[in-house]
Amino acid sequence: MTNERIFLSPPHMLGSEREMLLEAFDSGYVAPAGPMIERFEAAFAEYVGGRYGVALSSGTAALHLALRIVGVGRDDLVAAPTLTFIGGVAAIDYQGAAPIFVDADPGDWCMSPKGLEDAFDLAERAGKRIAAVVPTDLYGQAADIDVLQSICDARGAPLVMDSAEAVGALYKGRHAGGGVASAFSFNGNKIITSAGGGMLVTDDKALADRARYLSTAARQPTPHYEHTEVGYNYRLSNLSAAVGLAQLQTIEQRVALRRGIFDTYVARLGGLPGVSFAPEAADRRHSRWLTVMLIEPTVAGVTPEQIRVALEAVNIETRPLWKPMHMQPVFREALRTDCSVAEHLYERGLCLPSGSGMTAADLDRVCAALEQVLGRASAAA
Ligand SMILES: *Cc1c(COP(=O)(O)O)cnc(C)c1O
Repeated sequence: MTNERIFLSPPHMLGSEREMLLEAFDSGYVAPAGPMIERFEAAFAEYVGGRYGVALSSGTAALHLALRIVGVGRDDLVAAPTLTFIGGVAAIDYQGAAPIFVDADPGDWCMSPKGLEDAFDLAERAGKRIAAVVPTDLYGQAADIDVLQSICDARGAPLVMDSAEAVGALYKGRHAGGGVASAFSFNGNKIITSAGGGMLVTDDKALADRARYLSTAARQPTPHYEHTEVGYNYRLSNLSAAVGLAQLQTIEQRVALRRGIFDTYVARLGGLPGVSFAPEAADRRHSRWLTVMLIEPTVAGVTPEQIRVALEAVNIETRPLWKPMHMQPVFREALRTDCSVAEHLYERGLCLPSGSGMTAADLDRVCAALEQVLGRASAAA
């Protein structure tokens, strides 16, 4: 039996990536400018149902630009889910603002609407302004954006979506994302990759234009590069855009493959004591970017960490859930409301190998390893 490493979510070339990369190379646009960028922006915006796409060097860059453009500044608060990757939260810090953390909803694991209401009340009592709200579409499931949007409207705060993990996810039949702008990521571990990159998508032309301007060093259209403010170098390269565009062409196949992997895990392991899986809300299509298993240690007889170590020993990569932001040393002092759902999930969750390039044999190897460690534990109990 092979013992080759099975990664959590490695890049997967599935179509014309190589040809399009070479086409971009041969065109001479080996630069952060060129025709592949425009094609990628147009195709991606169309896929997610937005009017304008601005290709950027990362999802984090997209989040940073969005927060700057909606006016987040020093002394502001920005409401963010505690159960998330740090990208959207780092962007808050880049703007000199502070996060206020909101719990996960038990139904979809994304930002809790009730928790968001509590955060607005807490901020008000602290005499602070929540200048923006940045929910995450977690692990490939869209947040309940209609409800979150109505809270933001009532409170007068702009909504920016961290949809970095949600390419291919649907909400009430439309693509995940929304608010004033959505940030997507094409990092190497995401469902599509551009070898690193991101995109800001918005229906607001002025916002898109401003994002593009800030991402290209905020230079005025003068021959001598006049500057009236300081921007960033956040552009995506034309080579990266070629890979991203090629990957996008197979997105539906990728979603089907990831959902199939999830279904196999559920079929093989869902009946074991103390084992369950991340829910899919009734009005959504989860992309299953990552399959997340939940372990109830008192029933399963084993902790997620023990499972992780056991799988690592047979060269299979698994990962805990995102460690909640309010538990991170760097955010010890941050404001937050009750975050007990996120803590509960963090203690019980484990992300399983979910790459769309996994073979049936890979998947069987992971399932067999999980059955062994879970079976051993339940036999001992
Ligand atoms: C991946 C990710 C990001 C950041 O995207 P990068 O392209 O890696 O900068 C932001 N937020 C979430 C939730 C992510 O998973």
